Amino acid sequence: MGNIIVSKCKSCGFSNEFRYGGGRFSYQTNCPVPAINKETLEFENINYLEHKNSDKYLFYTDDVLKGNNHDKNTINNFDLKLNTVNNYCPHCKKKALDFRITMFVD
Ligand SMILES: [Zn+2]
Repeated sequence: MGNIIVSKCKSCGFSNEFRYGGGRFSYQTNCPVPAINKETLEFENINYLEHKNSDKYLFYTDDVLKGNNHDKNTINNFDLKLNTVNNYCPHCKKKALDFRITMFVD
């Protein structure tokens, strides 16, 4: 139901790991999604369900952090969609961050 995803920037080499989507027993209250904190411009892995109406975050499931997705590949969690390529990189600010699933978690 959830995923562990590793990111890698094609431009600067930035990489991190985050969780996307909740577990079988927690998904109604906990749905971790990658986001950019608008105040600090830092990457954070936050609970979408708690913050979806907040002005404080841009989510990677929002179009604003997405770049050109030639192959239209997405990683879906209910109605949330992450592009697998060309997402905003918090380090070099280019749309060059790729996401790859490394693990499926319940
Ligand atoms: Zn980068």
